[in-house]
Amino acid sequence: MPTYKEYREFCQQICSTGVSLYTVEKACKNIGDLNKPFIIIKHDVESKPEKALKISKIEHSFGIKTTYYVHSFFLHNPKNVAILKEIISLGHEVGYHYDVLDSNDGDKNNAIQEFKETLSRFSDNGFAIKTICPHGNPLKKRVDYSSNKDFFLDTEIRKLFNNIVDVYITFPDILEKDYLYITDAGYAYSYRDAKSTKTDATEELLPLGSKDDIIKMIQDGQSMIISTHSHRYFRFGYIAWVRISLYKIAKLVANALYKTRWGKYIINKFYFIAKKI
Ligand SMILES: [Zn+2]
Repeated sequence: MPTYKEYREFCQQICSTGVSLYTVEKACKNIGDLNKPFIIIKHDVESKPEKALKISKIEHSFGIKTTYYVHSFFLHNPKNVAILKEIISLGHEVGYHYDVLDSNDGDKNNAIQEFKETLSRFSDNGFAIKTICPHGNPLKKRVDYSSNKDFFLDTEIRKLFNNIVDVYITFPDILEKDYLYITDAGYAYSYRDAKSTKTDATEELLPLGSKDDIIKMIQDGQSMIISTHSHRYFRFGYIAWVRISLYKIAKLVANALYKTRWGKYIINKFYFIAKKI
């Protein structure tokens, strides 16, 4: 169950392997050092930044520094801005979890405009964004584009923001060696070759039994990016169990609705709600 206690144990296990840990930005600056086995932990903060703060404090107690990818809407609330600053004060990084193609229905010009404005808003709040990560939005109906990844896959758009690294799109090009991408998407760990993260081929994900399997991979000398969702951690295991059950039911209902014309229309209109579950 994804509890804070379990995450604390996981941090302890990672530290005991002696592997080198990097934030995404630090990895980009020290790319030569990544020839040795490495781990990058990154979090997609979809909601509840206070939970991200709890996770960041746990990591800090082990001397672990990670990267938190946050949505731009967090900046609307000064309380959230203060939380993100506290996370940075612990030595972590904050990056931009963008979904500008979805929010502009695939219109690249409008997406570029929103992306620029958002970078300025981050900057105005004291966050210099150096790395970014695309958001998934599994329920979004898309026409003429396949995912938010298409934004940074566009070479012309990349040129406009050439001082920014996308952890899925451009980082695999900077780092030549192979490494794994491990995700907790869907409340269960799975993995694939990180070079394939440019596509949305979720079918390529291979299931992992538990976090112990990840530790075993680290002990075997595998390098990896571990991607987690901080809002899916809970204080008590039973709350996590209830939440996972609700998530599975919601997923079944959404999938059934999505097969109907009106259901698809309604779900597409409220696609952004899915990120909070
Ligand atoms: Zn996301």
